[in-house]
Amino acid sequence: MIASDLDTAVNTLRDLIEGSDRIVPFTGAGISTECGIPDFRSPGGLWTENRPIQFDDFLASQEMRDESWRRRFVMEDKFGGARPGRGHRALASLYRAGKVPGLITQNIDNLHQASGIAADDIVELHGNTTYATCLDCTKRYELDWVHKTFEANGERAPDCECGGYIKTATVSFGQAMPAAAMEKAEQLTRDCDLFVSIGSSLVVWPAAGFPLMAKRNGAALVIINREPTEFDEIADLVVRNDIGDALAPFIAH
Ligand SMILES: [Zn+2]
Repeated sequence: MIASDLDTAVNTLRDLIEGSDRIVPFTGAGISTECGIPDFRSPGGLWTENRPIQFDDFLASQEMRDESWRRRFVMEDKFGGARPGRGHRALASLYRAGKVPGLITQNIDNLHQASGIAADDIVELHGNTTYATCLDCTKRYELDWVHKTFEANGERAPDCECGGYIKTATVSFGQAMPAAAMEKAEQLTRDCDLFVSIGSSLVVWPAAGFPLMAKRNGAALVIINREPTEFDEIADLVVRNDIGDALAPFIAH
């Protein structure tokens, strides 16, 4: 059912949450927009003006790696100070209450970790943009270090001491989805009794596969998203209200 108003949405969601032991939230860009981070994929979003750099292009040339990092530092100036929103805080409250064994996200902004959920309990399908790793030896590099070295080298992207390329820990277009993350996400989805999709259009693979998987394994399905999704029909509850408004009542004080 589609909640007719905010009160109905909150009350129905509360009943579902109280009746569940293993809630798995699945989050997309919509949960972070109130934190000032735009949905880059949306029409008019950043990516419609600035075509994302494909993984093969990143590997192919120093110029592309330089350009990729240049863009990343611009983003840092714009969004680096973002803090968790009401949606993040509500999910962290449910996590602390022992209701959420793990969370799956398409976001790369680190805001679930910042809200207090342990990194080990977050599956990041598209990686994380707040640090970098070597593509060869997986050594971790902090953004500050990359930025300083980039500047000191005359805007040249640094390489790892092993000779590998250093890239934000995100999954780029054309880069394979990490198998371990996918496996963990599927496990969480199969084992949950309530699957709550929040702020995802559920169009992009693999996001589209999860609601159906949850439903087939007997979980209740909630979809909180401004726009309709193609899974609304099989959902137990559809909420089209503002995500922060819908989840704020679940923040524990
Ligand atoms: Zn390396």
